[in-house]
Amino acid sequence: MKVIEHLEQSKNTLFSFEILPPLKGKSIDSIYNSLDPIMEFNPAFIDVTYHREEYVYKKRKDGLLERISVRKRPGTVGICAAIMNKYQVDTVPHIICGGFNKEETENALIDLDFLGIDNVLVLRGDPIKSEIYFSAEEGGHRYASELLEQVSDMNNGIYLDEELKNSSPTNFCIGVAGYPEKHFEAANMRSDIHFLKKKVEAGADYIVTQMFFDNEKYFDFVELCRKHDINIPIIPGLKPISTYKQLSLLPHRFHLNLPNKLVDEVLKCKNNEEVRQVGVEWATHQTKELIDYGVPCIHFYTMGRSDNVHKIVGNFV
Ligand code: FAD
Repeated sequence: MKVIEHLEQSKNTLFSFEILPPLKGKSIDSIYNSLDPIMEFNPAFIDVTYHREEYVYKKRKDGLLERISVRKRPGTVGICAAIMNKYQVDTVPHIICGGFNKEETENALIDLDFLGIDNVLVLRGDPIKSEIYFSAEEGGHRYASELLEQVSDMNNGIYLDEELKNSSPTNFCIGVAGYPEKHFEAANMRSDIHFLKKKVEAGADYIVTQMFFDNEKYFDFVELCRKHDINIPIIPGLKPISTYKQLSLLPHRFHLNLPNKLVDEVLKCKNNEEVRQVGVEWATHQTKELIDYGVPCIHFYTMGRSDNVHKIVGNFV
């Protein structure tokens, strides 16, 4: 079933979870171990992130350095199919522009279609670590809106080869990313909203937000979107803070601000167990307020461990 159908059919706030593929060489059991406990909450859907290649330098015998491309977390599509098969739950693979040309994207979408996966979260992807700015693959897409147009075209039976006759349309429900605290590259919020609207006009069905720790940022974002005629569902993304290190890591990695009160509480903690507890309490409060506000779904970034998310959602289901 499509994400948008889940949202339309439910009268209550739904829950969804996002997981990362395991590191290469690790078994899929780590995914099942993290999902098993939270499946009791009957999630509407499970997102699986996509991780593009990184470049590492290896010293060769002759002393020269060799640049090698490695993908540390492959398996997004396989994991989606395995989860659907094991739990009978809908999955949402993330697809990105980075590292793909249009032909490769088309083939990946055909695989998803054949597997019966009819949801995708369409993203640009971040620059690879050795680059400052994102650069598109030759013959690939520069922005999520362009990738989205390709998915929409396939939903209308339009493939890259214009001479294909009687081609079957795909039937993807398309999610996109939104940033309550602005995407880090956007000149300002107005420009970010302008380009978000382009994604909606190109056929996005719903938006999932970047994580935020202050609900006011989400409420303001929704208001701004509505003011600019962005009327599709906006699913808030939450992540419970879980380590002391995340005080600097989260703002650095995700370009967001942590509220004073949360930072003060974390600074009082004596160890990461206490930080985890603060994270659970903070996210529980956020969840309650978001449910009262009437959000259609709350999306939890589990980042590989689900015990804290289990405690939070357990308060509401
Ligand atoms: P876009 O919508 O293309 O926007 C990127 C920037 O370009 C923005 O600043 C925007 O304002 C600007 N812009 C857009 N269109 C134009 C235009 N036509 N001209 C000029 N400027 C423009 N990354 C991964 O690699 N894998 C994942 O699985 C993944 N999952 C994510 C899930 C969620 C819910 C979120 C919020 C992010 C996720 N990301 C993931 C990170 C995402 O790829 C990055 O944030 C990336 O930098 C931007 O992606 P986007 O789809 O928002 O890009």
